[in-house]
Amino acid sequence: MDSKKRIIILGATGSVGATVLSEIAQFPNQFEVVGISCHSAVDRLREIVHQFSPKAVAIVDSPIGVDFRGMLFQGVSGLAQMIDALDFDVLVVALSGVNGLKATLKAIEKGKDIILANKEILVIAGAMVTHFAKQKGVSILPLDSEHNAIFQCTRGDNRFIKNLWLTASGGKFWNVDSATMAGATVETVLQHPRWSMGKKITVDSSTMANKGLEIIEAMHLFAVDATRIRVAIHRSCIVHSLVEFCDGSFLAQMSPVSMKYAARHCLFYPERIALEEQSLDLYQLGSLDFEYPDLERFPCLRLAIEVAKEKQSRHIAFNAANEIAVELFLQKKIAFGSIPRLIENALSRIESRDYETVEEILAVDQMVRCKTKQLAHP
Ligand code: NDP
Ligand code: MG
Repeated sequence: MDSKKRIIILGATGSVGATVLSEIAQFPNQFEVVGISCHSAVDRLREIVHQFSPKAVAIVDSPIGVDFRGMLFQGVSGLAQMIDALDFDVLVVALSGVNGLKATLKAIEKGKDIILANKEILVIAGAMVTHFAKQKGVSILPLDSEHNAIFQCTRGDNRFIKNLWLTASGGKFWNVDSATMAGATVETVLQHPRWSMGKKITVDSSTMANKGLEIIEAMHLFAVDATRIRVAIHRSCIVHSLVEFCDGSFLAQMSPVSMKYAARHCLFYPERIALEEQSLDLYQLGSLDFEYPDLERFPCLRLAIEVAKEKQSRHIAFNAANEIAVELFLQKKIAFGSIPRLIENALSRIESRDYETVEEILAVDQMVRCKTKQLAHP
């Protein structure tokens, strides 16, 4: 790299944000963090400011003032304002939820490449985001591990894909019966057997709603329809996903269970960084296992597979209802088993249609969130 890549990280205080920052910290001559955002974790934000000295910070929701000498942006609109104000090369979208949609579109409008961990944006507005990126000649590099794996296999050429195979750990309950699962506590659900991640995605992993969201994410990233995306339970989480090509060959990407490999790939793309460390020892690995997912025991995945074949309104509703249901479960207001019921209820109230504007998309998202809250507490 000739000069430093200037990077903005939305969601810098989160789990993916931490992984990206720790990779960046190892290569201070190659990257410069110029902007960061958080929702409300200002203490962690201060630590990052201290270590990386960004020019700007955006705080979406902070009850207290923050003493910062650079540019300070606040509220959801502050995310897009920060993107507008800064000179940068790459935007890392690592915040959770849908608040990063306008900021991502703003970066694309400025012709900046995107490293995208946030699947929600693609689930609710994937056609709009990918179409706009194509129009502006902007690359969207997937950081979500499965999609990063597929991207490493296709190298950005989607022409010869026959099927995509998304691997799934199966989460906490891959072999637990439905009745036991329905009554699972927050504490149990948050202990993921393989990955260390934010709370929302850890719950989504246990219900397998995460894999459902990833099917829709993959449809948009790789221009493949839902009928050509398969899910395979792969307990060891070494194969991060596979591409089945039209001539019968399969390609898979393998690396240990850590987001750092996908982060590293995205940060250095289209180059690769040469490192001494040994990542996998194939002799220790032994065999690789793949299984069919049980859609009876994982109704969130079953619903998502159906919804993926339908139009955008249904994708938005699935995502919004799931997000509210997970929030209520984490607050111990509903049972684990109520999550799919709330999603199903939200879906039963929305027709299948597409939208043209961000405003329409966000209005439907809000409407489903309100309705789901009402349904949970009639
Ligand atoms: P975390 O909960 O650890 O972090 C979320 C980040 O987003 C934090 O910086 C948080 O700020 C910020 N944030 C939370 N809510 C909002 C909001 N309403 N508006 C603006 N910012 C907000 O999540 P993860 O890092 O686990 O996940 C981030 C995204 O990446 C998600 O979309 C997830 O699906 C995706 N992903 C995560 C993976 C993982 O390994 N964790 C793997 C693949 C994809 P604050 O700290 O102030 O709350
Ligand atoms: Mg994933």
